[in-house]
Amino acid sequence: MDLSRKLEILADAAKYDASCASSGTEVRDSSDGKGLGSTAPGMGICHSYAPDGRCISLLKILLTNACNYDCLYCVNRASSNVTRARFTIDEVVKLTIDFYRRNYIEGLFLSSGIIRSADYTMEQVVAVARKLREENHFRGYIHLKTIPEADETLIAEAGKYADRLSINIEMPLETSLARFAPEKDQRAIRRTMGRLRLKLDEAEDAKKTITKAKPPRFAPAGQSTQMIVGADSANDRTILDTSANLYGAYRLKRVYYSAFSPIPDASRALPLQAPPLVREHRLYQADWLMRFYGFAAQEIVDEAEGMLPLDIDPKLAWALRHRERFPLDINRASREELLRVPGFGTKTVERIIATRRTSAIRYADLPRLHIVRNKALPFIVLSDYRPSPAALDSTGLSARFKPKARQLGFGF
Ligand code: SF4
Repeated sequence: MDLSRKLEILADAAKYDASCASSGTEVRDSSDGKGLGSTAPGMGICHSYAPDGRCISLLKILLTNACNYDCLYCVNRASSNVTRARFTIDEVVKLTIDFYRRNYIEGLFLSSGIIRSADYTMEQVVAVARKLREENHFRGYIHLKTIPEADETLIAEAGKYADRLSINIEMPLETSLARFAPEKDQRAIRRTMGRLRLKLDEAEDAKKTITKAKPPRFAPAGQSTQMIVGADSANDRTILDTSANLYGAYRLKRVYYSAFSPIPDASRALPLQAPPLVREHRLYQADWLMRFYGFAAQEIVDEAEGMLPLDIDPKLAWALRHRERFPLDINRASREELLRVPGFGTKTVERIIATRRTSAIRYADLPRLHIVRNKALPFIVLSDYRPSPAALDSTGLSARFKPKARQLGFGF
């Protein structure tokens, strides 16, 4: 099989993995004439798009789509009737370097089906990264998918070369993982995440210690994971609880949510339809609220509903459920309170705090502060503006934010 056919198969097989953003690593470049590539922002990136519209900015491939495991939700599972291919280590290295030189990509995202054993597969993945870094002096971004059952020393070596490591938790519930991926062991997944956290903490501590020796390098962009949404019956509340637990226990940089895509010849245990993509979007917004806006997972989803509303964003939905907390005087409110106002982003809150140090914020200041008036006005008090109490209590308030009903196509 020629290289371009392998690339076609193994790039297509990798598109279901969402956990590949290239943010948060250390800055390296090769402007000193040594090495190749950089992680500087704004470099030429080859953007490819998964069928669902997600932007993929790395050369994102599998080493092989052959796999001993038979995870029901995966197109590469052992029982799947797909064409199999396998890159050699040298082929992946060559592709990465060639694509980098042509400015198609900024880095490599490498994952693999499990062949022979977890250790053997992990050795192959690590060998690609080692060759890129040590023999080709590649300084671009490398994200390696880690196989939880692989030996600890291999995972430590992966961290030496990679910017980011990720281990997919796959399912929000342990029972779902046992049902859909019986060969995977959630305890092994969590144990390896815990080991990665220890290594990341050690590397972080070493950086803070003043010594002449260079601190050991370990995945400077941290670890991430991916959860498949909509393959099992877990609701959004359960998904966000699992994410909160992962962020807290393993200090993950990101949890990626990947809406389940129906695959050919799928098991009957799987749903026939993909969940609406907007569900994935709402989960990302909720995740953002947990990481940057001080919300706890339990606050974001209405307990009785269990699901995030699809028609309005989760912060607005929270504010509509907690109208007793509004209107909020933005000239006096704390930073934490401001972060909960619909339409206020973190930068808006910083602008408000900076402005009110010198003068009271008035209605006319809103455009300058980039405040979306339509969204925020029912919830805020300014020095010359106060919404009518009836407006905040009205049942029509939520309807005001919902998208207008649209006539669908007639089909004639
Ligand atoms: S181990 Fe990975 S590649 Fe193999 S079937 Fe499971 S999800 Fe797919």
